[in-house]
Amino acid sequence: AAKKLPGTASLHYDASMAANGTEHAHLGAELREALENDQLFLLYQPIVSLDDGRIMGSEALIRWAHPTRGTCGPDSFIPVAERTGLIVPLGQWVMRTAFAQLASWISEHGDEAPGVMNVNVSARDLREPEFVDGMAALLKEFGLAPDRIVVEVTETMALEPGQSIINLHGLRDLGVRVSLDDFGTGHSTLTLLHECPIDEIKLDRSFTQAQVDGRPPVSAAVIHLAQVLGLHPVAEGVETAEQAEQLLALGYIAAQGYYFAPPMPADRFGELLRESGSLMPAPAWQAA
Ligand code: C2E
Ligand code: MG
Ligand code: MG
Ligand code: MG
Repeated sequence: AAKKLPGTASLHYDASMAANGTEHAHLGAELREALENDQLFLLYQPIVSLDDGRIMGSEALIRWAHPTRGTCGPDSFIPVAERTGLIVPLGQWVMRTAFAQLASWISEHGDEAPGVMNVNVSARDLREPEFVDGMAALLKEFGLAPDRIVVEVTETMALEPGQSIINLHGLRDLGVRVSLDDFGTGHSTLTLLHECPIDEIKLDRSFTQAQVDGRPPVSAAVIHLAQVLGLHPVAEGVETAEQAEQLLALGYIAAQGYYFAPPMPADRFGELLRESGSLMPAPAWQAA
């Protein structure tokens, strides 16, 4: 079952409110203010090497410090941002903030800094003709090697013909990596995996967590697919040592989840890099 983390309460507006155009417009206006008044912030969740617990990367996850409703998670406002067009400046803000953070960790922690920064982009972002050029400009501005950025897209987004697929190829040409997020919940076809410039697949947490319920191990089929196609396999939503052990035994390289660490503010992540030399709980060396 999903655990609720402190400080990640979501903004619950029910279906009737969502259907109400006035409320919707109100939320849109508030979100515009949020962008202008620094109410948005990023949390960073470690992506951990399953065999030694080393922090390999970080995924940037957006939050909104709403003035009256408290901290809101992305599921409550990303859809609004997409419908109002605010997603484009919001996406640029996410990218700039996450790139700046990685550059700062690299200068402060050197080799102990996370190897990569994963950023989530929306379908709308990926359709922007300027998307790849914007990425290239930011890499240059922050002096980041392109292979330190991983762009997370969903299967549906990767399947979209036109500018989206052109942009995915543009990212590949630039040397930025592409990850298929929530893998297994969308509409992947073997053709997509074979023909799209994908570098990584992130097994959706429903499959990570299904292993303990004795359901068919989709995670085993997915790792075979990843190995055959040469894709970097990451498992999301690892909450127990048992799940981590099974994933490691199956051949997963990296994982993310509350078992290792929740999404956290940048300064806490920095402390972790200092305190533990990048080591998180990992089944292999825990048992040894
Ligand atoms: P995602 O990219 O699949 O991110 C993983 C989600 O799972 C995050 O929720 C994370 O907090 C949560 N999570 C991590 N470990 C565990 C675990 O062990 N158990 C459980 N139950 N959950 C775990 P969050 O932060 O609420 O983000 C939800 C979604 O919102 C993300 O799913 C992503 O699709 C989207 N999102 C987040 N940040 C951004 C952003 O900056 N831009 C865009 N366009 N979308 C974003
Ligand atoms: Mg993601
Ligand atoms: Mg995901
Ligand atoms: Mg997911």
